[in-house]
Amino acid sequence: MSFSNLGLSEPLLKAVADQGYTTPTPIQKQAIPIILSGDDVLAGAQTGTGKTAGFTLPLLEKLSNLPKTKGKRVVKALILTPTRELATQVAESVETYGKHLSFTSTVIFGGVGINPQKATLRKGVDIVIATPGRLLDLLGQGAIDLSRVDTLILDEADRMLDMGFIHDIKKILARLPKNRQNLLFSATFSNDIKRLADGLLNSPKLIEVARRNTSAETIAQKVYPVDCKRKKELLVKLIKDEEWKQVLVFTRTKHGANRLTEYLMNSMINAAAIHGNKSQGARTKALANFKDGSVRVLVATDIAARGIDIDQLPHVVNFELPNVPEDYVHRIGRTGRAGNDGEAVSLVCVDEKMLLRAIEKLIKKDIPKETIDEFRPDPSIKPEPIQKKRGQRGGSGGGNRSHSRGQARSQNNKRKDSSNSSSHQNHRRSGQNHNK
Ligand code: AMP
Repeated sequence: MSFSNLGLSEPLLKAVADQGYTTPTPIQKQAIPIILSGDDVLAGAQTGTGKTAGFTLPLLEKLSNLPKTKGKRVVKALILTPTRELATQVAESVETYGKHLSFTSTVIFGGVGINPQKATLRKGVDIVIATPGRLLDLLGQGAIDLSRVDTLILDEADRMLDMGFIHDIKKILARLPKNRQNLLFSATFSNDIKRLADGLLNSPKLIEVARRNTSAETIAQKVYPVDCKRKKELLVKLIKDEEWKQVLVFTRTKHGANRLTEYLMNSMINAAAIHGNKSQGARTKALANFKDGSVRVLVATDIAARGIDIDQLPHVVNFELPNVPEDYVHRIGRTGRAGNDGEAVSLVCVDEKMLLRAIEKLIKKDIPKETIDEFRPDPSIKPEPIQKKRGQRGGSGGGNRSHSRGQARSQNNKRKDSSNSSSHQNHRRSGQNHNK
């Protein structure tokens, strides 16, 4: 099976070939013909499966077959994503795959100045990739007209719901024309997603590709039992002894990410943190430095790490296990991509045993445990409860147990970590990207 059997025209096949892709991935094989047929789609697919090209290629094909509108360009396709990182990445894909076509696209998210976005919209664009918060602001100000949208795509819809965007999404949906094609992509199918899909999709075609937890055999997983307060030391030892050159480390909280980054820097390991309290500029820089190898360790929270696409990432470390077992699967999916070997290591303390059990139940296998003698856990330490809410301080591994526990922060952090709020006053140029 090659791309030329999927119903895509020459400019798109050429763009695909330019990327060096020869064979469509399973999600692409299934999604492209269905999307071209005009049906609504409910797709279960995670990052790393090639889903972005799976919806971008047929979208561009469809748009090139629409009758040309006279005068200013109108928004014909809207792609909603949970985070600005993912929005940027999708926008890059739209640009890459659309490079032999003449569509214009723009990416819209909060935390940057709104005026450049308004100026771009005034000129007219065909495709808008947006996070919900800022898009709603622009709609409220009458700066964008969505009444001619032909295709709506919700990417990583489960994350958008996790991040509290359901009301924003509903308000946006109310501004779209009734007659349109809807595509919903989600890594998981919770009841909330099913409810959203029921209200949004018309007789959708279901597409599900193998979940990474069943398909990711290339990822070697390992658990190191260790006391919470010694995790930092163990991490430094592993990075140095094993000579890991590029490591993505997950912490449960933003503060935990900052503290760990500081510790690594003090241990002469070049590290950067990426989370919702960082400015867009800082996040982009940290990611670029990590990709080019000048930053050895990128410490991230789950939400900030969504949509980060780094091929062949060799090492992922769960400094703390996530509260939601599915997040473990998302996290380790960052390594061993596209058939490359990868290693996912979890540092697990006594507080996290229940979380580990839930993860092993989900992935239907026991993760091998390896105890390092000098880090053997102290059996006299009793487990303490782990904070449930995202954005709270503490959790295990913070190194300062009395300080790191029980400091409740506002629920709003959930939303803030997405950094879509237009109240962020970091005025930078937005990443407008115009296809020729
Ligand atoms: P995604 O799941 O959309 O985030 O894509 C994951 C990675 O797979 C990206 O780096 C894409 O560039 C790459 N990719 C997408 N489609 C293909 C393909 N057919 N062959 C090889 N790589 C691909």
